[in-house]
This record gives sequence, C-alpha cells and structure tokens, in this order.
Amino acid sequence: MMVRFQFEDTVYRGIVAGGFIEAGGRVYDLDEVKILAPWEPTKVVCVGLNYVEHAKELNMDLPKEPIIFLKPPTAVIGPGADIVIPPSSSQVDYEGELAAVIGKRCKNVAAEEADDHILGYTNFNDVTARDLQRRDGQWTRAKSFDTFAPMGPYVVDADPASLKIQTRVNGTARQSSVTSDLIFSVPELVEFISSIMTLLPGDVIASGTPPGVGQLNAGDVVEVEIEGLGALKNRAVAGG
Ligand code: MG
Repeated sequence: MMVRFQFEDTVYRGIVAGGFIEAGGRVYDLDEVKILAPWEPTKVVCVGLNYVEHAKELNMDLPKEPIIFLKPPTAVIGPGADIVIPPSSSQVDYEGELAAVIGKRCKNVAAEEADDHILGYTNFNDVTARDLQRRDGQWTRAKSFDTFAPMGPYVVDADPASLKIQTRVNGTARQSSVTSDLIFSVPELVEFISSIMTLLPGDVIASGTPPGVGQLNAGDVVEVEIEGLGALKNRAVAGG
C-alpha cells in the first residue's frame, strides 16, 4: 500500500506495512504522521450514472456510453481533512466511489491493457452540491468546490472487478454495493477516457457511485470503505 504523508514540515511517499510506514530508509508510526491525499493529480475524471440503481434514484436514463466530467485538482483533499459546505448550496451529498490512479502517461489504451497503466486503487468521495447540479443543468459548479474530492488514504494494488464498497455517515451504512454492479468496468473506462485525453501519472478516474446517495450536514462524519483499501474519513463543516 502506497501512502503520501507529512512529517514535521516535509512531504514523503512511503509504503505501509504492519501498521508502520517505510519511507527513505526510516520507519514512521502511522499515528505520528499526517496522511495526505495519495497523489496530486493533474485531473480527476469522474464517471456519472455508472450503477443502474443510482441512475434510477436520480430519475436519469441509463447511459449508452460513459458520462464523464472533470473535477479540478484544487478540489482534492486527503483523509481527515474537512469537507466545506459552501453557503451557496443547501444540499451537499456524499458519493462513495472506487477510484483508479494512473501510473503511466497513456493515450488510446485498450481495455485489455488497462491494468498495465494503473498504479492502484483508492477510495474517493465525489462530493456534490445536488441543488446546484439540478439548477445548472451541467455539473461543473456542483462538483468543483474546494474540498469536494476527498481521496485516500492509500493506493493499493487490487482487482477492481468485484470489491465491496460501503459509505457510512456517523457510523450508519448508507451505501452498500459491490463494484461488479458497475455498468462500465474500470478497464472499459480507461479505454473510453484515454481515447479522449492523455492520462498522466497520478490522474484519477472515479468510477461512479452506487445507490444510496444522501445529504451531508455540518458536523457529519462520512467514511468511504472499500474492501482491501482501508477507509476514507472526512468531516463536513459549514463554510463561511
Ligand atoms: Mg459520482
């Protein structure tokens, strides 16, 4: 499991094993460091409506091709950082998602080759101002506020085909699904997205959210946990 962390004033990358982090010939206790988002991507490519039941709960038609949108890199935060609810929205929702982190610069990757270009997988929360998404008709504002792309804590080598995914709010399960329910699989997404844009190391592909999305209120603690990937935990706070 790869991790990016801050110790004193310096940022490191390391490997997590047995509750410790190894980085640059030193061993750190997980409790003595601040875990950061595992990468600083040049872009976060998200996929909308990629679980049948989520499309139904939003009363949206099932897509025939992946529906993609971008989140700016400035929206990325790491585990433990606060999700800031902007004053311009009265409905900010969580969306727990499996994300792939790209390992190599690539373009026009066939689905069968996708795994060669993926560094690993991490938990992602596609935080969304649902009221603004409905009002605008397109999604840029609703998806792009600072802090609306929590990710982490680790990048893990995994098989994305059938991982359990759960989102909890204040400890109560709100989304429970499995990635085998994705309409478009991760390899298919890599093929589709890389046919459009060059993907760079650290770029993130968030594969869409299962049913059960719902609102976050100030003070809520939201956790996205995926089998083998650990849990991504963030608190929502009111922005001023
Ligand atoms: Mg989403």
